[in-house]
Amino acid sequence: YYVVGRNGLLDRISKKEPIVVRALDDVSIDIFENETLGVVGESGSGKTTLGRILATLEQPTEGELIFKGEKITKDNVGKIRKKIQMVFQNPASSMDPRMKIFDIVAEPIRNIPKEEKRKIVKDTLEEVGLDFDYVANKYPRELSGGQQQRVTIARALVSNPEFIVLDEPTSALDVSVQAQILNLLVKIQRERKITYMFITHNINVARYISDRIAVLYAGKIFEIGSVEDVFSSPKHPYTQSLISSVPSLSKKELKPPEGEVPSLINPPSGCRFHPRCPYVMNICKEKEPPLFDIGGRSVACWLLDQNLRKQ
Ligand code: SF4
Repeated sequence: YYVVGRNGLLDRISKKEPIVVRALDDVSIDIFENETLGVVGESGSGKTTLGRILATLEQPTEGELIFKGEKITKDNVGKIRKKIQMVFQNPASSMDPRMKIFDIVAEPIRNIPKEEKRKIVKDTLEEVGLDFDYVANKYPRELSGGQQQRVTIARALVSNPEFIVLDEPTSALDVSVQAQILNLLVKIQRERKITYMFITHNINVARYISDRIAVLYAGKIFEIGSVEDVFSSPKHPYTQSLISSVPSLSKKELKPPEGEVPSLINPPSGCRFHPRCPYVMNICKEKEPPLFDIGGRSVACWLLDQNLRKQ
């Protein structure tokens, strides 16, 4: 169990602490090879927890992770972890400020021969648009935010990963730099055939980069489907409110509906969105909706229950 703080970070509960919450509850998710799954949600929705679990940095208390058909266990996690990387929101805090850029990027491949390591680091820094001779001997503080994020992307790439979790990788950057990093990520994915999970609270970024979108709310998946379907006709009232509140590209942040995201310590009964939902029915307060399959996408809302509609 974890507590998710306001900034989305995880705090492990000490044994003495009696309050525990489920940051994610009964979440099941498939990510397909070479796609980008965008994960959107407000702060506290569980998106960072989901990312850390899928990147094998945290273990779920229940359930299992399967990577390319192989269940991840204590015995094979070390081997599989080499194929999975994570890039974080704030590049400066995800690098050791006392290390030079060469050593930071080379960290995941520190055990390979020196010459081979130098070649991989050089090629990868150039792949992410940095001049090896210019940056290799510098410290992170000597680079701009955009250059620092390019370094952390290079560090994620040197071990040839097949899956990268990108946790708000552009939200700490200036808008013009954000676009450059997004385009870089798209180019890398195209060339290397990597699978991405892209966590963001910026709905336009999610729309730009994703093939499919998962909408998270209070530790639950509310809607998951292709970008085209979800944006052209969102089915869940929460997704509808997120998308209708972004009338133009000038408004980029998620504008959630009125009211607070519920506490995960004592979430609302039934549908967790019911205190904020304009369509709430009696059943919503009592029974949690399952994910209904609607033409290739899944939506957790009683409005989509065919049996209820017939009544
Ligand atoms: Fe609203 Fe009910 Fe659907 Fe929840 S299940 S989103 S409360 S209509």
